[in-house]
Amino acid sequence: MVLGAGMAGMLAAAALARHVDTVTVLDRDRLPGDADPRKGVPQARHTHVLWSGGARVIESLLPGTTERLLEAGAHRIGLPEDLVSLTAYGWQQRFPETQFMIAAGRPLLDWTVRDQAQADPRITVIGDTDIIGLRGDAERITGVTYKPRRQGTVSVLDADVVVDAAGRGSPMKRWLAGLGMPAVQEDVVDSGMAYATRIFRAPEGAAKRFPLVSVYADHRAGVPGRNGILLPIEDGRWMVTLSGTRGGEPPNTEDGFTAYLETLRHPLLAELVSRAEPLTGVQASRSTANRRLFYDRLVDWPEGLVVVGDAVAAFNPVYGHGMSAAALGAAALGAALEESGVGPGMARGAQRAIGAVVDTPWSLGTSQDICYPDVYIETRDPRLTRYAGERRAQADLIGEAALGDPVVCAAAMQVNTLSGAADALQSPEVRAALGRIPAGGVRPDGPTLTEEERGAAALVVANQSE
Ligand SMILES: Cc1cc2nc3c(=O)[nH]c(=O)nc-3n(C[C@H](O)[C@H](O)[C@H](O)COP(=O)(O)OP(=O)(O)OC[C@H]3O[C@@H](n4cnc5c(N)ncnc54)[C@H](O)[C@@H]3O)c2cc1C
Repeated sequence: MVLGAGMAGMLAAAALARHVDTVTVLDRDRLPGDADPRKGVPQARHTHVLWSGGARVIESLLPGTTERLLEAGAHRIGLPEDLVSLTAYGWQQRFPETQFMIAAGRPLLDWTVRDQAQADPRITVIGDTDIIGLRGDAERITGVTYKPRRQGTVSVLDADVVVDAAGRGSPMKRWLAGLGMPAVQEDVVDSGMAYATRIFRAPEGAAKRFPLVSVYADHRAGVPGRNGILLPIEDGRWMVTLSGTRGGEPPNTEDGFTAYLETLRHPLLAELVSRAEPLTGVQASRSTANRRLFYDRLVDWPEGLVVVGDAVAAFNPVYGHGMSAAALGAAALGAALEESGVGPGMARGAQRAIGAVVDTPWSLGTSQDICYPDVYIETRDPRLTRYAGERRAQADLIGEAALGDPVVCAAAMQVNTLSGAADALQSPEVRAALGRIPAGGVRPDGPTLTEEERGAAALVVANQSE
């Protein structure tokens, strides 16, 4: 059984269904029968990019999902071809696509994945149900206790495997302590980032196809980071999200939103947004701390229990890694089931593999977040303490080179989209390319919108340098 019918829960259900007779997914929300928002996933009001690394895994677990999303109006953004981005280092050259992302509202992503999974007759999703606690002991978890929200009696559901996919708020750490297990190591890196999002109707010419436009902070500047992203989504809409680290948080008022856009490192986003019609007010969020629970490091781990998704590791959303990491975690569960069935050692093997797959997004995001002023850090990870400086210097070198060198850009895209291991950045080709810098590579000196895109967005001012 699976606790939580979010992205991690439904993908874990799909992985489980290949190895067991029935999978029951319980969620406290009444689950909508369409792409509608719901209370249990409040972050759905904000920009959610699904990187190719996650999209491919979702496709392998639930074939046909990508096509359904695109048919429902999601945009496929080729990377970096359809990207107009001012990174910390400068404007990114729009090289031919090596990776991609799916751009859609989160309710559409969630609904499509849930509906695809529910098409499997072995999977049953039950909403309106609170999970109360675990059954079993520190050696083996045998099920959960739950309570339907309206009917009100506590019941027991026995299961060979219990997957916790209850998100950032999962009570698992507390439940395991209640079983007498040793404390689990918890690392936190919190840049204090706040989010503010508003949805607009795209200008007519830009409704069907438009690049993703982003203006990012320079984390080396020693000031709070301020970012903006315009994501084209279904129904001809633009989802515009502003985000700022502690001391640079975006306001949640409409006037404040417009004023904050003007404070980004380049006026491009402000100009694009000024030509679009607002469809909503401003929504805010502060659930952005990087938090990782090292369940994989506990010496003893109960049989029959696996923790996946945000319940294991939640990331600063500005890097867009959460859903893809959840998908990779579900695939790791699938691989462990393939190897051991639901038999002894499966849960421990799966938990270790999940710990490994969350490590790349963890280190990518946290190593940048620690550069911002007033960041809260609770970690013993030497990559974020003793070796932080040299690792940062290497990441900056790659970030700089990726702007104008297609080989470095492809490697960086592969890692950032969670499509390959971080050691792609150490390949001989990348090393050779880095050796060519600064001689090689053409770096754009201003926004990279084409004339056609400028016309589509009714933008009249000329491309300007940073
Ligand atoms: C502002 C913001 C923006 C983000 N942007 C991106 C992005 O661009 N790209 C990206 O990949 N990720 C992004 N993320 C991260 C992404 O939202 C999460 O990584 C993803 O939702 C994790 O999925 P999950 O299934 O683990 O958890 P959730 O989606 O949180 O789902 C947990 C589920 O468990 C249920 N539940 C919880 N407790 C109980 C209980 N006791 N009983 C029953 N049910 C319960 C909830 O109702 C919910 O359905 C963003 C996050 C935030 C906060």
